Amino acid sequence: MKSVACPRCGKLSPFTPENKWRPFCSERCKMIDLGAWAAESYRVPAEEKGSEQISPDAADPSDDR
Ligand SMILES: [Zn+2]
Repeated sequence: MKSVACPRCGKLSPFTPENKWRPFCSERCKMIDLGAWAAESYRVPAEEKGSEQISPDAADPSDDR
């Protein structure tokens, strides 16, 4: 059986149609990875817009870092 290392945690999981989270080991890892990706891609267009001068503090209230 083919297996694949989860890109998120490195755990080996079966790379089969039954594993619906492949190549991740679980829904949790997939959601974490998608969330990280979405958070990154969300920031880029916000910065590229540049039509408004907004302070970095007020740029993204949803980013709590
Ligand atoms: Zn994982």
